[in-house]
Amino acid sequence: MEKLKRILSQIDGRGYKAYKELQGKTFRFPRYSLCFQYIQGDPFAPPSQVALSIPLKSAGFREELFSNKIRRIALEDFLARSVDKAIEKANGKRRGSGKSGLIAIDVPKQEVIERTCMRIFQDRIEARLFIGLPARGRRIAGDEAMEMFFEDLPEIAESSLFIEVLSKSDIRRHVCVVEDQDALRSQLEERGLVAFIANGSLLPRRSGVDQRPLKKDEAVLFESPPSMEVELNAPNAGKIRGMGIPGGITLIVGGGFHGKSTLLSAIERSVYDHIPDDGREYVVTLRSAVKIRAEDGRRVECVDISPFISNLPFGKDTLRFRTDNASGSTSQAANIIEAIEAGAKLMLLDEDTSATNFMIRDARMQRLVAANREPITPFIDRARQLFEILGVSTVLVMGGSGDYFDIADRVVLMDHYRPQDVTSKAREIAGELPSQRVPAESELPKLSNARIPLPESFNPMIGKKVTVRSRGKDHIQFGRTTIDLTYVEQIAEESQTRAIGGLLLYAVRNGIIDGKRSVHEIVKALEERIDAEGLEVASPFARPSADYARPRPEEICAAINRLRTLVVR
Ligand code: ADP
Ligand code: MG
Repeated sequence: MEKLKRILSQIDGRGYKAYKELQGKTFRFPRYSLCFQYIQGDPFAPPSQVALSIPLKSAGFREELFSNKIRRIALEDFLARSVDKAIEKANGKRRGSGKSGLIAIDVPKQEVIERTCMRIFQDRIEARLFIGLPARGRRIAGDEAMEMFFEDLPEIAESSLFIEVLSKSDIRRHVCVVEDQDALRSQLEERGLVAFIANGSLLPRRSGVDQRPLKKDEAVLFESPPSMEVELNAPNAGKIRGMGIPGGITLIVGGGFHGKSTLLSAIERSVYDHIPDDGREYVVTLRSAVKIRAEDGRRVECVDISPFISNLPFGKDTLRFRTDNASGSTSQAANIIEAIEAGAKLMLLDEDTSATNFMIRDARMQRLVAANREPITPFIDRARQLFEILGVSTVLVMGGSGDYFDIADRVVLMDHYRPQDVTSKAREIAGELPSQRVPAESELPKLSNARIPLPESFNPMIGKKVTVRSRGKDHIQFGRTTIDLTYVEQIAEESQTRAIGGLLLYAVRNGIIDGKRSVHEIVKALEERIDAEGLEVASPFARPSADYARPRPEEICAAINRLRTLVVR
């Protein structure tokens, strides 16, 4: 501490660069040590990064709170939120120019995702924060820096990272709820389910841009129809009852504005764990579920879309379909094939975001446009084969076409936000009113799984400078090209996007993209590295990253597939 004080008073009033003297240095405080992991070049540059390191013994968390991986992630998540709250309390004190006086942590949202801002190691907790080193103009403001390190930071640390100042019951609840979700999710497969929505869940969100739950008195809580009710075992909460969606093809129908898309969105997001009081904390979906939608304009690189599309005008190849500007239907077909390639066992589709001609083709249209002129085999003719041959299930929101009754295993009707099982009624209707469409007879073509990206098609450089960075949640600048993830809807936050950028760069630099591995194998290799060395492994800098959240393998694949310069063998 004394040494840090000395340095700060020595550099007070000097040019901002003199802060660089702190880079890499660690200073011991009574209850933690403070390490300067990165020092920004000037007050307007991206902020500096410090790590607070606290011996586990003095932080005082009992080992059972982080005794397995999922508990550890939950406790890390809790502590990141706790630090954020403490910062909020201490805050408002922006001092001087640029980012002067800023203190921030990469704060989690509704999901609980492994992240790099907070790590629990064998012997210590490490919290990584961004700070704006205080300046006046471009000169060092030593007094303010003194306040920052000897008043604000100690106050933040001591009010957020030690067991004695935290609510033990809140911590326990956080850890238990997350662990329960993980356990419920792992029961899905053995029970033949692809998703589970607990009774009492609160699914609607506050708004289209706010993932927090709707207020309780404005929402209808979820209640399973009796015929679909199942009971799962949560290790902490005990038995939980709710709607089990079995493998196969499930249709969600109902009038407009009756909660169909809201249900599907909850299923889509519940590949992640949620925090207590989110409303979806006992909603779980197979980890590998992928939301499928139309995405016209996207790039597609050599994807075999022939199960859905053949006989394109001018003999365009659909076995190795390549385009810089996919249509609604071809993009949706590519999205499905790529998801299967990534290992997805559940597809989630919503009519709101699907290409109509990809989803349905009714009897009248079949009669007007002969099969040999229509390149599309609609999803309705393939969904059963995807399940029976490849084991890929579908949950589909479809309020607009009853043709799907013919192929559905289950039909769930949303009525005033309450689900009803109308399967037998839908079957009856299908019997009384045949759709008269002629199902496609062709078999599902065999899919090859070996698209091998060429390393030279990944260029992270602009001139001599490596340039890989996220721009918001939806874009990654990768060298001179931009990867557009706007329609990759299951990315929960920008920290994941940022991590995907880091991981792609890591894969290029470390020979993981080697011209031999397929897309799937590349992502598998990345997963193994993360599991062994932590997500920090993907940091492009000498310092560990402080703002990565772990992406799913499916989204890493999605980013590779959307790289406009991608070339595969
Ligand atoms: P649909 O897809 O059937 O047209 P949505 O799922 O988009 O309907 O829901 C319509 C509106 O109702 C949305 O504003 C949504 O937030 C709200 N909503 C959905 N589910 C519930 C619920 N259980 N309780 C209260 N409001 C809900
Ligand atoms: Mg809808």
